[in-house]
This record gives sequence, structure tokens and C-alpha cells, in this order.
Amino acid sequence: MPRILILMSDTGGGHRAAANALSQAIQRLDHEHRFTVDTVDFITETAFPPFHHFGKLYRPSIDHAAWFYGLAFKVTSPLPVKSALNAVVASIAGPKMLQMLRRHPFDLIVSVHPLATSVPGRLLRQLRPNLPFVTVVTDLATAHPFWFWRGATRTFVASDEAQRRAVAAGVPAERVERSGLPIDLRFLSLPTDKAQMKREYGLPIDRPMVLLVGGGEGMGGLDKLAGAIADSGLPLSQMVIAGRNERLRRKLTERQWKIPTVVTGFVRDMPRRMAAADLLITKAGPGTLAEGLATRLPIFITSFIPGQEEGNVRWITESGVGRLTPSPDEVSIALRGLFNEHGPTILHQRACDAAATLAAPRAALDIAARLIEMADLPPATTNFDSSREKRGRWRVWGNRRKQIDRPP
Ligand code: UDP
Repeated sequence: MPRILILMSDTGGGHRAAANALSQAIQRLDHEHRFTVDTVDFITETAFPPFHHFGKLYRPSIDHAAWFYGLAFKVTSPLPVKSALNAVVASIAGPKMLQMLRRHPFDLIVSVHPLATSVPGRLLRQLRPNLPFVTVVTDLATAHPFWFWRGATRTFVASDEAQRRAVAAGVPAERVERSGLPIDLRFLSLPTDKAQMKREYGLPIDRPMVLLVGGGEGMGGLDKLAGAIADSGLPLSQMVIAGRNERLRRKLTERQWKIPTVVTGFVRDMPRRMAAADLLITKAGPGTLAEGLATRLPIFITSFIPGQEEGNVRWITESGVGRLTPSPDEVSIALRGLFNEHGPTILHQRACDAAATLAAPRAALDIAARLIEMADLPPATTNFDSSREKRGRWRVWGNRRKQIDRPP
């Protein structure tokens, strides 16, 4: 029974969403129920205190110091810096990662997180050189070089820019595949009756609905933006998804709105909610953007993490799907391009068409099909070689580097 191990971490909601989508897709394609899929938060399992709380610190640190992320992105991007940092991480976290790999048996590893590529990949090469290691990049365009380990058996990316970056970081071009970002399979069979969907969520069917999402953590100043939409004077309705941001949810629920407004916390039916919407307003989180594209929605981007998400903004704005609207005033102005007192305008239709050209709702299935092919290896290759482990556990970056970096 081939076992697939997915390495992710709850830094934001996108990595888990991609991991879940891949897991669903493998199960859907695995008609004979031969495969098992294990998803692991590698930071919780391997980091030393206080870094194992990195997931919980992610939202406040992005909210209060996005500039720091931008700076760190730039400073750590040159390849020598990246290699040095990876070597440090390997020497500190290597032994714990090894224990993690032992706890979760596998025949193939898939990483959907930039901090779980070359370190676990090199450990794997050292211990079980024949097993595949696959990276699925969950940033749309400006993917950090940490994503790219040239030893990976396959690297799946979502855009031309990410593909170029992979090759520039040393990944052989023939091992990079353009697949799109894996998103929930429910985006493949969305309900088509928008009016019915609006009714389901208690919204009027004769008003375009604006959906506001701030990632899994409800980031990005959704309260001010919702206020601007309500005050725009346009006959709209809105749904605000506050995610796990309970304070925001309460604040918005207690407010009186000038237009029909639904406020909710974390939801598990995002595909149906997007299917009810006529416009998506969100921060530049790659998962939400890919889902909006799959639903063929125009998108306004209200904020982005400098460096990491800059390319997402370019991707959406240059293709005509949407605009960058960082302030409530800009949201009000941009709304008047897409809607008037009679409803959606011709610009709205053009933006929907542009979204359809970028959409990749099948990405999870396409990647899963490739993973299944790769994981179907003979059982002889699946055991740990403990003598290699004893000799090699500390020397992931040692003199075997060239061999380790070579894909099987
Ligand atoms: N999401 C969800 N329920 C919510 C809010 C968000 O399922 O209430 C999902 C959303 O559909 C997307 C993911 O969480 O798949 C957020 O990922 P993204 O990459 O957009 O942002 P991140 O949170 O990683 O910054």
C-alpha cells in the first residue's frame, strides 16, 4: 500500500488548503483504495520552542510588520544566503526532521511549504535515495528561492513567472511542471444558479454580491472595506468572511449596515459562497486568488505581503481580472467600474472572462495523477537504511552534496 506524506504548516490557511486538495484528489483517483495519505505540520513537529509556535505568530507578525517579511524575502533570496540558511536549519532541525520522517512512514514525500524542501529532501536522499520528493509551490508567481530544491524529483508551479524562478534557482527545466495551484475539488463542479446560491445565504437575488475574504485568519482591514462598500450608494449586498479572527467577526456582526450584509467566521463551504458572489475582495493570498479565478470572479486585491505576494498582484492586474485597491476610497471608485444602478457593467463581464483564462480548477487532480504514478514504486525501495542513517545523519550538507542534489 503506497504511502504519501504531505509536509505543510499552518502559516496562513493556504498551505493546509493545498494539502487537503491534494489529499482529496489522490483519494478521488485511487479507485482501488491502495494509497494512504498522511499530512503533517512539520513546524509543529520539528521546530524548537518558541519557533514551533510560528503558525500562531504568523497572523500578528504579518499584520504588524509586513515590511519585515518584505525585507527578509529580499535578504534571503540570493542563492548563497539561501544555501547558508538551509545548512543552519539542517544542523539545528535535521535530527528532529529525521525523527519525524521515521514516525510517518512514506513512499513519496510532497512538500507544500517553502521551509520543507531542501532540508527534508536531502535527508531523504541520504537515507532512501530512490524515493521521490515532490514540491508543489503554493505561491502563484514570486515564489521565494526556498521553494526550489534542485534535487526534487518534480516541482509543480502555477505560473510562467514561478517556472522561470524555479529554473533560475537551479531546478532542471525538465523537472518543473506548470500545473496551477491545487484547490478544493468542489471548485470543479460549482453550482451555476447564482440566484439560488444567494437565496441559500439569505441575500437578495436582485443585487450583485461582494464577497470579502481575509485568508484563513481574517486579515487585511475587512471592517473598513465593508464600510466603504455599504456607503458606496450602489445597490449591492455583501458577505464578509472573518475567518478565525473572532474579534473582527463580533465587531462586524454588531454593526448596522446600509446594505444587506452577512458576516461569518471561518467557513468550510467557500466554493458555494464564491459561487454566490459577483466580486471577490481579498488580500493577495494565493489560495483565495486561485479559487476566485476558478469561480470566474473579478478580484480586487486590498493588501499583499511585500516580496512574497507582489507577483500575485501583477498576475491579477495585468491579466485584466482585477485591480489593486488598498484603501476603502479606491474600493469605492473601482466598484463603480464594475457595477452601476442597474447591476454589473460590461467591464464586469470582461473581468470574468479574463479570470476564466487564468483558472486552473483541475490542478489538484492533475498533480495527484502524477503523484500516484511516482508513488507506485516496488516495496524494496521503501525501508530505511539504518546504517546509512547512522553514518549520514549529520552530514546532509557534507561532501555528498552533489550526489544528494541529484534527483533519483
Ligand atoms: N478559507 C476557508 N475558510 C475561511 C477562510 C479562508 O476555507 O473562512 C480558505 C480559503 O478558501 C483559502 C485559504 O483558506 O483556501 C486561505 O489561503 P490563502 O493562500 O488565500 O491565504 P493565507 O491564509 O494562506 O495567507
